[in-house]
Amino acid sequence: MLFLEGSRSYSMKKNKSIVFQTLVDFIFPRHCYGCETNLEFYEEFLCLSCQINLPLTKLHLTKENPLFQKIKSRFTLQAATSLFYFEKDGVLSRLIHLFKYKGAKKIAVFLGDWLGESIAESPFFNEVDGIVPVPLHPAKKRKRGYNQSYIIATALSNKMKLPLFSDLLIRVKNTTALALLGESEREQEVKNAFKLNPKKTSHPQHLLLVDDVLTTGSTLAACASALFVNHNIKLSIAVLACRL
Ligand SMILES: [Zn+2]
Repeated sequence: MLFLEGSRSYSMKKNKSIVFQTLVDFIFPRHCYGCETNLEFYEEFLCLSCQINLPLTKLHLTKENPLFQKIKSRFTLQAATSLFYFEKDGVLSRLIHLFKYKGAKKIAVFLGDWLGESIAESPFFNEVDGIVPVPLHPAKKRKRGYNQSYIIATALSNKMKLPLFSDLLIRVKNTTALALLGESEREQEVKNAFKLNPKKTSHPQHLLLVDDVLTTGSTLAACASALFVNHNIKLSIAVLACRL
């Protein structure tokens, strides 16, 4: 194990020796998804330099953090965190683009695991008892082949050892690309886009709503309004990157 301040811990797969991995890397070099330099045997997806320079928030360590404050004006929530601050350019936006539009699902798993490890360090998510990803509209999912929020939520479900409720919410409206819209247009576009699945009446009380990127919070607010049809629900949120 190698630990470095500000970066994720690395572990070698047990069945691979350092010598073996070094040899494999010599013959088939692996490249950093951030800067494309060759990876060392102990690095996975990202080189140490790219990992250290990612804009970690540490929001999970503070209950009423700025993300919590931003979202609590939109709906009642118990806890909120984001692994990173969103950046328009740089390594993080490249990673998000790769897993969202280029099929690099492994990056979503890698970052989802990292988010899960940060939540495990937090005292504010102990009462969560189920994970809910923001759903994609079926037409968009068919085109992309996967829902990146589902991949992140699955990683959280594994790390937090909590059940995943991937079909509790259904997306009934195929919204246009929200990233291209202003705040009020986005609000209007996503309003009523989600519904509670009438076939899923049984679920735990405190749910963790998971998305990849939070910008205005409109998408999560629309999900919350669908979930709060059931008045007993409590909500917390976790995203990979947020704008504050
Ligand atoms: Zn790099």
